[in-house]
Amino acid sequence: MIQTDILIIGAGPCGLFTVFEAGLLKLRCHLIDSLPQPGGQCSEIYPKKPIFDIPAYPEILAGELTDKLMEQIAPFKPGFTLGERAEFIEKDDEDQFIVTTNRGTKHRAPVIAIAAGLGCFEPRKPPVEDLADYEDKGVEYIIKDPEFYRGKKVVISGGGDSALDWTVFLADGVAEEVTLVHRRSGFRGHPDSVQKVMDLAEAGKINLVVNCEVTGVGGEGKLEKVVVKHKTDGEKEIVADHWVPLFGLSPKLGPIADWDLNINKNSIEVDTLDYQTNVPGIYAIGDINTYPGKLKLILCGFHEATLMVQSAFKRIYPDKNLVLKYTTVNGVNGFE
Ligand SMILES: Cc1cc2nc3c(=O)[nH]c(=O)nc-3n(C[C@H](O)[C@H](O)[C@H](O)COP(=O)(O)OP(=O)(O)OC[C@H]3O[C@@H](n4cnc5c(N)ncnc54)[C@H](O)[C@@H]3O)c2cc1C
Repeated sequence: MIQTDILIIGAGPCGLFTVFEAGLLKLRCHLIDSLPQPGGQCSEIYPKKPIFDIPAYPEILAGELTDKLMEQIAPFKPGFTLGERAEFIEKDDEDQFIVTTNRGTKHRAPVIAIAAGLGCFEPRKPPVEDLADYEDKGVEYIIKDPEFYRGKKVVISGGGDSALDWTVFLADGVAEEVTLVHRRSGFRGHPDSVQKVMDLAEAGKINLVVNCEVTGVGGEGKLEKVVVKHKTDGEKEIVADHWVPLFGLSPKLGPIADWDLNINKNSIEVDTLDYQTNVPGIYAIGDINTYPGKLKLILCGFHEATLMVQSAFKRIYPDKNLVLKYTTVNGVNGFE
């Protein structure tokens, strides 16, 4: 049984920053994440994209932001249970929550902070036969590092911003060949990105295959080709080292949906006083929560984490006085 003061579900930017703010109040934290690495969306979806609205960083790569947060929280020695999904919650007779993961790891804490973002990451997968046989052998649902595709023949599917942006990026001297397949002739993405893709197609720098869907995958032990079917002109094969269907992530709350919390459109309702849910002792911060005026931005999640830990402290130590001390005065005194 792992015991801590605040058990954080989700090691995205907001979960990570909670460790820092809690640490300043001498509260210990442990984080659970179903992904094998911390950073949430920043690490999993867009580690190489620059973010421009983190205070004092005119520009920072999302992956770099995760590294900086890990450095900032290091003095507070957080524990991590990575690659495991928080599944069940119950209370023991000492008013502590027990959270058990899909692998049976048990955690015990008086306070729970749900920082589960979009929920468990579940990419929308196309209904293609034998697809699972090629996953991580040429079929990927997220582009983590564009360098992985250097000199390769890449087929991207999708009509949204991710598909358009990565097509443009990989066509700029990274991949040997880029083919964008979309089932319609119009795109949902930003008009500027659509225009860039059209210009690249006209210049012969990418293959644009519209009104088509990938219907088959093939290869010996790894992906070597995809089959595309046109609405009217039948099927053809495209030689490919990689196929990246970018159909988005389905927002699934996952097991948390069964924790008796007030849910509104896949988000957890909270009181903006302290970001507590309808269950006392369970808080929700970052992208996972909702309240009037909510903005799904990292900056807002940091603010929520800061207020949340103040309330958590009072819950854990109802008789202690809490005085706000500046870090410039008090410094950052980590745990031994
Ligand atoms: C392409 C893109 C660009 C963006 N650009 C910006 C930007 O410029 N500025 C900005 O402020 N924001 C931006 N965002 C949004 C920003 O990334 C999110 O606001 C931020 O990641 C939310 O952080 P979070 O910690 O709440 O959740 P997340 O980053 O979503 O992390 C949540 C974590 O919880 C885990 N989890 C969920 N359920 C469970 C469970 N049951 N058990 C265990 N683990 C679980 C997930 O695996 C995940 O790692 C962008 C998002 C995208 C996709």
